Amino acid sequence: MSYISEVLEMTEKKNAGQPEFTQAVREVFNTLSQVIEANEEKYKQNALLERLVEPDRQIMFRVPWTDDKGVPHVNRGFRVQFNNAIGPYKGGLRFHPSVNLSIIKFLGFEQIFKNSLTGLPIGGGKGGADFDPKGKSDAEVFRFCQSFMTELYRHIGADVDVPAGDIGVGGREIGFLYGTYKKITKLYEGVLTGKGLTYGGSLIRTPATGYGIVYLGEAMLNDHGKSFKGQRVTITGSGNVAIYCAQKATELGAKVITMSDSNGWILDENGIDVEAVRVLKEEKRARISEYCDTHKGAKYFETKSMDELRVWGVPTDIAIPCATQNDINVQHAKELVKNGCRCVIEGANMPSYNEAVEIFLSTKGLLFAPAKAANAGGVGTSALEMSQNSMRLSWTAEEVDSKLHAMMNNIYHNMAAAAKKYGHTDNFAMGANIAGFEKVAEAMIAQGIQ
Ligand code: NDP
Repeated sequence: MSYISEVLEMTEKKNAGQPEFTQAVREVFNTLSQVIEANEEKYKQNALLERLVEPDRQIMFRVPWTDDKGVPHVNRGFRVQFNNAIGPYKGGLRFHPSVNLSIIKFLGFEQIFKNSLTGLPIGGGKGGADFDPKGKSDAEVFRFCQSFMTELYRHIGADVDVPAGDIGVGGREIGFLYGTYKKITKLYEGVLTGKGLTYGGSLIRTPATGYGIVYLGEAMLNDHGKSFKGQRVTITGSGNVAIYCAQKATELGAKVITMSDSNGWILDENGIDVEAVRVLKEEKRARISEYCDTHKGAKYFETKSMDELRVWGVPTDIAIPCATQNDINVQHAKELVKNGCRCVIEGANMPSYNEAVEIFLSTKGLLFAPAKAANAGGVGTSALEMSQNSMRLSWTAEEVDSKLHAMMNNIYHNMAAAAKKYGHTDNFAMGANIAGFEKVAEAMIAQGIQ
């Protein structure tokens, strides 16, 4: 049995009941097979793969809080510090009822390679809680965040572990978490990113992930004689990532025709009015269905199950899933290809099942950008926020945007070069994993069996 198969089998056995985590490990290892086989002896001697799949530590804790009626609730909090071979742990916090150890581990594992790919010195981690901020008052969210940070503060620090936002954790939650950290520790340090502009946040951090997705997509399209201009674009999600991705794609001349939330999706053949979606979601915290109250040409469809075709049944040139994991299954992928889609850019983390990725990779002329590369602009800009906090500086929006743009171009060229080097030109899923993995592997070996 090969080294990869041995470690995959061991990982699946040891982590039975963690399907998202083992799915992520399988995807990464399968694309690394050439690199691992070429270095098998060295990696085996250093137990490299065994160490890669085992987090440095996994912290789980009780988060008790009281609602506005005085009723107590208890949620479960997580922080998985996966790997700090190349820098302090870095990765977001997710507040969503579906959160469990498997989901946090898959996200933390992916984060190791994504962070390495940015070229910045940051390790991989992820955290969150099975708490749903939807429908809660600001006071309830505040009490939850205060309780969550009352435990988390022991484990993080500007040079140790620097969390950020993710699903359900935006500017409001980061503010409450940061305030609590500061109150407990007395430290005014860059321990969280995604902070408000008045207290150490970076300009452009809010739209960074969405803008970065489009910058990377444009670099990939341009390299193949194409661009966003005049293209029909279908997007899922209507949160932080989806909104700013839609905004930048529209700015580059594309027509974004779909967006969604967990209740349903909208189709606007005239091109979605992205500012209206932003106001609905960021300011009113409303449902996407309300878009149709003010935009009469648009249609709303309720989502009963993620297995339905939904957005993926709409003919499109470019598909950008920006909601959550496992959004695109085999049937969705086939339908996209059948309807003429020739570019898929993953905005969310692991939005496609591995079998769906296989379909994209085997479709001639279809460009596929994996999440690890495409959505790395968020964490990359977070690392820029860390630098500004350490230097007590604040760069202008133009400076940060141009650094983000350069970072995304660089990521594209690095993953393209890695794919080419191993004889798989344009297989960016493989290129991104190889480019991210090589640096981490080297650093882990250099630091000994820890
Ligand atoms: P938000 O919470 O801002 O938005 C998430 C969007 O996806 C919402 O429209 C939400 O709908 C929808 N959604 C979430 N879960 C489901 C579900 N189970 N079924 C259907 N729709 C769902 O999160 P972000 O935009 O920040 O994150 C989106 C994705 O991007 C995630 O995969 C995240 O890990 C990834 N990402 C985020 C980064 C960031 O900087 N924020 C950085 C890199 C990756 P509803 O409001 O109804 O729940």
